[in-house]
Amino acid sequence: MSQLRFCERPFWQMFVTVDGGVVPCCHFKGVLGNVLKRPILNIWKRGYQRLREAVAVGERPEECRFCDEFAPRKTMGGRLTKED
Ligand code: SF4
Repeated sequence: MSQLRFCERPFWQMFVTVDGGVVPCCHFKGVLGNVLKRPILNIWKRGYQRLREAVAVGERPEECRFCDEFAPRKTMGGRLTKED
């Protein structure tokens, strides 16, 4: 059994703030784009890309530095589970 760090939120979640800023969650210290300046689909694909690439290989993005969700996980049979 191996351990890795991972957060699934960048792959399915998006919030838009009142000023148009796009974030993957309420813990994220930054924005991935602004819907008042770019199409939301463009932000979903390109704006999220760097974040997804980082968490996919277990790297904690700078914007996630204070978040507890980026927790060690154990892989069991190809499935990711939060560590007990
Ligand atoms: S690690 Fe935390 S701050 Fe980063 S995307 Fe996941 S939930 Fe949000």
